[in-house]
Amino acid sequence: MAARLIDGKAVASEVRARVASEVADFTAEHGHAPRLATVIVGDDPASEIYVANKHKACKEAGMGSVHHGLGGETTEAELLELVAALGEDEDVDGILVQLPVPEQIDPDRVVAAIDPGKDVDGLTPVNAGLLAQGMPGLLSCTPAGVMELLRHEDVDLEGAEAVVVGRSRLVGVPVARLLLAANATVTVCHSRTRNLAAVCSRADVLVAAVGVPRLIGADAVKPGAVVIDVGMNRGEDGVCGDVDQEAVAEVAAALTPVPGGVGPMTVAMLLVNTLTAARARV
Ligand code: NAP
Repeated sequence: MAARLIDGKAVASEVRARVASEVADFTAEHGHAPRLATVIVGDDPASEIYVANKHKACKEAGMGSVHHGLGGETTEAELLELVAALGEDEDVDGILVQLPVPEQIDPDRVVAAIDPGKDVDGLTPVNAGLLAQGMPGLLSCTPAGVMELLRHEDVDLEGAEAVVVGRSRLVGVPVARLLLAANATVTVCHSRTRNLAAVCSRADVLVAAVGVPRLIGADAVKPGAVVIDVGMNRGEDGVCGDVDQEAVAEVAAALTPVPGGVGPMTVAMLLVNTLTAARARV
């Protein structure tokens, strides 16, 4: 059996086109476009690329965006001051502080200082808490992208066995909460899980968000499962996921490629969140 590849690029461009059309309506109605503010502290090359892509996506969707590049010596107090100013800035709808930040800055304090209504990364304790309580808030972009892919693929989550490998605040936990909200029966695995492959092989829907190249092999996948590979592991041969794509494609019904699966969805969902945040502020 060769798994169907879930084309994240195509789904993301559908989402982006839909957002662009809604942004045009928003702009016509309110006289201004939604606007995203991004912040990078230091000169991490990967952060520069991610943020440049986010600005390009904003532009293509007809949104405004402004960037604040701060030097690597910036103090936590200086960054908190900027975050507070962006929170008060009437012209800013979304705030994204690209992580990681240099070691003199506590990322948790910075994230917690972002105005929850402008928290388009969905990472503040307020938005994480709303998600935990099943209440509406801004959703973390990658988990929201995973759910959008499952929706697009018409995956029936009601009563399905879902296994999430990884329990990070950024991906694993919010994905698990969203799957639970969609009425899946959810198991969360992590580095201390015993017999990982056996637990994973129960899954109708398996989401890998680990950061270990090709950790999930064919023995961990139930025949006919839908496998979402969130992993983005950079090595000498380029980027690979947390799933052994070649082996798992022989067992799964559907699989997201890396690259071209979950990755493009993250930027698309950032645009969705920025529009949502802007709508809530008018
Ligand atoms: P993270 O914070 O490092 O969390 C990794 C999780 O995996 C932890 O919960 C850890 O368990 C668990 N883990 C580590 N080794 C394991 C093992 N051998 N068996 C089972 N579980 C194990 O990483 P993250 O931020 O969630 O990111 C995960 C992956 O997704 C990375 O490759 C990252 O680059 C990628 N990612 C992609 C996107 C995208 O847009 N496509 C966005 C975000 C992240 P413990 O909690 O016990 O330590």
